[in-house]
Amino acid sequence: MNEHILDYAAVGVGPANMSLAALAHSVEGLRGAHLERRETFSWHPGLLLPEATLQVSLLKDLVTLVDPTSPFSFLSFLATEGRLYRFLAADFPAVLRTEFNQYLKWVADRLPSLTFGADVQSVDFREGAFQVRTGDSEVTARHLVLGTGLTPSIPETFRPFLGPSVFHSGEFLLRAPDVTGKRVVVVGGGQSGAEIVRHLATDAAPESVTWASRRTSFQPMDDSPFANDLYSPEYVRHFHALPAERKARLLERQKYTSDGIDLQVLQDIYRLSYRDEYLENNPGRLRFLPDCAVTALEGGPDEFKLHTESSGLDAPAMLAADIVILCTGYAYELPDFMATLAPRLRRTDGLLSVRDDFSLDWDGPDGNRIYIQNGARHAWGVADPNLSLLAWRSAVILNSMLGETRYQV
Ligand SMILES: Cc1cc2nc3c(=O)[nH]c(=O)nc-3n(C[C@H](O)[C@H](O)[C@H](O)COP(=O)(O)OP(=O)(O)OC[C@H]3O[C@@H](n4cnc5c(N)ncnc54)[C@H](O)[C@@H]3O)c2cc1C
Repeated sequence: MNEHILDYAAVGVGPANMSLAALAHSVEGLRGAHLERRETFSWHPGLLLPEATLQVSLLKDLVTLVDPTSPFSFLSFLATEGRLYRFLAADFPAVLRTEFNQYLKWVADRLPSLTFGADVQSVDFREGAFQVRTGDSEVTARHLVLGTGLTPSIPETFRPFLGPSVFHSGEFLLRAPDVTGKRVVVVGGGQSGAEIVRHLATDAAPESVTWASRRTSFQPMDDSPFANDLYSPEYVRHFHALPAERKARLLERQKYTSDGIDLQVLQDIYRLSYRDEYLENNPGRLRFLPDCAVTALEGGPDEFKLHTESSGLDAPAMLAADIVILCTGYAYELPDFMATLAPRLRRTDGLLSVRDDFSLDWDGPDGNRIYIQNGARHAWGVADPNLSLLAWRSAVILNSMLGETRYQV
């Protein structure tokens, strides 16, 4: 093989591809490039709220469940940073997301295969290799690994209003809106909505905080043992082999094992509302509207009117707001740089066909694979966007690229 051709090029450095880089680090002779458009590592910086925690065990870090002896584990980070005993004594119910971000940055600093400030703009396939182009350079590799994460979902009706007063939850801390004396409406009843409502409710500054959700109640995440079994290699392999219609039905039924709200956050919000009502003499400052769909937005730039459809208790047909935060979730989109190769990818009912080593079914040579991380919920189930199987999925991909069982999966 031409020495200029790397074994693989991975696009995007979030936890998914960083897990791959961490596991690949000890594989002698394997040459990979990991390209990230951000100048430095940061994990969902717009939602890195100081009180937010992980929703999974600290053992679900980049490597531990596949290689507990790896120097890139969360425990290794704590030990190296000299805080293992203090961490134990602090006895957090869950790891703070700001600390997990520190851990991820710490790993990023130790992996020479990562390149930041490399925005991938196009990928071609020629003469047995992928040509991956950023603004000013090109990488040639035998395999391609897509790890570009999910894209914010913003309903069409809100798009014309996007700006400093109407924005997606993922931009919350980056926009840092001044909420003093403002009426804030948070749209969306999942985890991001709950975290933002808790954050705003703790702050006395907003005049009011209204939380509207289409869901019939603010539903907790099912974090029970049998639900957690869905996030195991055995289960996802079983899921992957099921027929497509069955998968679609199961995804709907299993939704609240990941898309529900962390119970602690719900309890915090409820107690903050109790405090406002009975201890601070501020009833109604926090307002909860389950079973309330926001169907349209009008007005701006200073005051917005939100039209709603609801069968919930006390829900108004119209809400007034100074700031609207759209906690409307995320979805996978094939990145624009795949435009040339997209027609060569096989789809079933419009969905990418994903093989059991996480490679996409395409019309190119079998010796050149396009792997996908966190873009195949339809094929692999509710665990796909989650941290739970990060290390396992990276190990499956590495084994496939190497053509041998380097890691037990
Ligand atoms: C706020 C938040 C909290 C979460 N907390 C948890 C949790 O506690 N537990 C859990 O299991 N899951 C959690 N998740 C879900 C999931 O684990 C995370 O979203 C995780 O970051 C997904 O990792 P990723 O590497 O697939 O994508 P991302 O972290 O989104 O990383 C993708 C990277 O690709 C880069 N990129 C995109 N396009 C290009 C390009 N053209 N060129 C170069 N680089 C590019 C992006 O800049 C980004 O850095 C959370 C999600 C969010 C939004």
